Amino acid sequence: MLSMETARLTAANPLSDATAQLDAAIATLGYDSGIRDMLATPRREMTVSVPLRADDGSIRVFTGHRVQHNLSRGPAKGGLRYSPDVTLDEVRALAMWMTWKCALVDIPYGGAKGGITIDPRVHSEAELERVTRRYTSEILPIIGPERDIPAPDIGTSEKTMAWIMDTYSVATGYTVPGVVTGKPLALGGSLGRASATSRGVAHVALAALQHRGISPVGATTVVQGFGKVGRDTTRFLCEAGARVVAVADQYGAIYNSAGIDLDRLGAHVDATGSVVGFARSESIDGAAALELPVDLLIPAAVEGVLTAENAPRVTARVIVEGANGPTTTAADRIFVANDQLVVPDILANSGGVIVSYFEWVQANQAYWWGVEEVESRLRSRMLSTWRSVLAYADARGLTLREAATALAVERVTEAHRLRGMYP
Ligand code: NAD
Repeated sequence: MLSMETARLTAANPLSDATAQLDAAIATLGYDSGIRDMLATPRREMTVSVPLRADDGSIRVFTGHRVQHNLSRGPAKGGLRYSPDVTLDEVRALAMWMTWKCALVDIPYGGAKGGITIDPRVHSEAELERVTRRYTSEILPIIGPERDIPAPDIGTSEKTMAWIMDTYSVATGYTVPGVVTGKPLALGGSLGRASATSRGVAHVALAALQHRGISPVGATTVVQGFGKVGRDTTRFLCEAGARVVAVADQYGAIYNSAGIDLDRLGAHVDATGSVVGFARSESIDGAAALELPVDLLIPAAVEGVLTAENAPRVTARVIVEGANGPTTTAADRIFVANDQLVVPDILANSGGVIVSYFEWVQANQAYWWGVEEVESRLRSRMLSTWRSVLAYADARGLTLREAATALAVERVTEAHRLRGMYP
């Protein structure tokens, strides 16, 4: 049997999954191949070399990308990922998903994504700052509050956003808080942004459980990923009464059938950097965690973890995609055949970009909202999107992913149609 990581890395390229999803939407909507090609092709791509003078004086060169998939509904929007696995095709797929996500939740953005092929865990903070500033200066001509607005993703944080904002502002000659979202509160970040993706995942997970007739109280849950998305998701689900029985990260997984003590787990992860070794639990294989017989599975780590290889053994009744692209096209078919409900990434994890939009609006107006306002607007936008996707799917006999993608593709195509083609 393949290890989970080998299966993930040998599974289809995320760009094939993203393109297959687009093709399914094009078929549903009856659009022609010209529209399909326009939507399949990124509007703009930039690949840059990022030289670093390391703390020991040696020079290393990294590769960075910024892909703007579509700009028809507004400035491009999307996260920035630091990981040794970053490839241009991965960034293209993530940028395309951002276009659909922004259109689906009806915020005035196109889609983008950035990435640097670097392992942030092996660099000092000073090195990461230099890498971030050099990357920012290389992509400076294509970013800006009206052009393309980065945000945190895997391996980046609000600190990274502060460095980008400062580099951009120094080059521009004045402070431009709207160039990034997910920045520190003291620099114009939004209350409620740090937990927004997780809060949104929890809102739709609870709605999906109820839709399937499963009470959230006592619902057994596995979460893969205990980072910016996974960690608070476990907390919000627990507050709603769910029982988180296993948590996995890139080093392994832990299990406790009575439910994991999440406060203590958080302290353990802060101290050690991983869930592995948490005392009040049993250590299990990371891949095995995905196959536990639970009500709810939340992959909130990386793409391509649910594949044709392991999907037949995944028995969760509801799968809510906290991560982008965790389910390959082949796995999706298996889940449909087994009547498992998959809530797609572009819906499930859209809370982050929704509150990023709120942050951008606040920064551009230099007027700050209270946390209750942010959270209640987030909840209402997430749940209204959930209801529209459900209604669209029911009316046309589609899966939630097919419905969400078609709805988004329809909106983006409408913007293209209204704007016309230049020249
Ligand atoms: P993060 O870097 O904060 O955390 C990533 C977590 O995943 C860590 O616990 C890490 O150990 C684990 N992980 C990494 N590789 C793994 C592997 N191969 N197997 C199992 N676990 C692994 O990243 P994040 O911001 O929480 O992002 C997680 C996912 O959510 C990504 O797909 C990202 O694109 C998506 N996402 C993030 C946001 C956001 O606001 N941060 C918004 C929308 C979507």
